[in-house]
Amino acid sequence: MRAAPRVVVLAGGVGGGRFVLGMREALRRRDAAVNTEQLTVVVNTGDDLWLSGVRLQPDVDSVMYALAGVNDVNRGWGRQGESERVASELREWGATWPWFTLGDLDLGAHLARTGWLRDGLTVTEVVARLASRWALGASLLPMTDAEVDTVVEVDTGTGRREMHFQEWWTRYRATLRPLAFRNPGMESAGLPSGVAEAIAAADVVVVAPSNPVVSIGPILAVPGMREAIASSHAAVVGVSPIIGGKVVRGMGDVCLDAIGVATSAAAVAEHYRSRRHGGVLDCWILAEEDAHLASAVESAGIAAVVHPLWMTDVTATAAIAEVALRSAGR
Ligand code: GDP
Ligand code: CA
Repeated sequence: MRAAPRVVVLAGGVGGGRFVLGMREALRRRDAAVNTEQLTVVVNTGDDLWLSGVRLQPDVDSVMYALAGVNDVNRGWGRQGESERVASELREWGATWPWFTLGDLDLGAHLARTGWLRDGLTVTEVVARLASRWALGASLLPMTDAEVDTVVEVDTGTGRREMHFQEWWTRYRATLRPLAFRNPGMESAGLPSGVAEAIAAADVVVVAPSNPVVSIGPILAVPGMREAIASSHAAVVGVSPIIGGKVVRGMGDVCLDAIGVATSAAAVAEHYRSRRHGGVLDCWILAEEDAHLASAVESAGIAAVVHPLWMTDVTATAAIAEVALRSAGR
């Protein structure tokens, strides 16, 4: 494999953003002159929503802010130095979801995005324009140009109800029991320009340690995505988002429960399935805490590699990314 291979990462928001920072660092260590074409990030847009007349893309923004170095590392999401003056006005008007934070700086991005969408640009073009503000060292692509916002069917205790994923996640903190996740419009969605090309040209496709159900799930559900991965010459390596049988940060285990997958590094690998058996993985990287599951992963036809998987800082994350690159080169 070349000093700096071509890499495509499939990613959700915060976990995906952290991982992508580590991958950029790993590529730069191999070749300081590594360029944008060598790292493409295909980002989940299932979290996207319309709110107060503007279009939000939480995962796209998380990855973009992380690569730009303008993310709030203490809070774990959003922009550094954020304020909420507009949000407090919207609350006074009763015009927004009171439990959903719309930061002023964030709103700048949402307004720019909405304006360009109104002008007729595709989502891919809008993401490229937003991203061009910074030298990200990576190309960002939405998983699709179509609107396929994730809805959750929940059991309220007295009946069934559907709501936007963000309402369930942020307002109810995922406490209402989810029965199903759906992306209306997905059947007629397609890959946006650049995604199939990037996957075909890649040496390595990495499934980031992101939520398997609501971040990676929608990406793999876009018609054409699985086929593009199946036919690629790239090695496909997944990094486990589960460490020691836990989801690390957040409430992702509730999502796995809903689709009948155990919160286990092996169960998630089996859920993604071996590429030889019609799935997407050639190799799966498990945390040291889950080393005992390596044989189960291998029995599912997926090469297993054990490595520390805590993304504590860029150095630790770059080491994980480097292992993903090396596993692909085997
Ligand atoms: P979101 O879209 O902001 O929810 O972020 P993602 O879907 O990209 O990632 C969320 C997932 O990242 C969590 O459910 C965790 O399983 C995983 N995660 C978070 N921190 C770590 C970490 O340090 N190591 C690993 N391996 N996974 C992590
Ligand atoms: Ca997300």
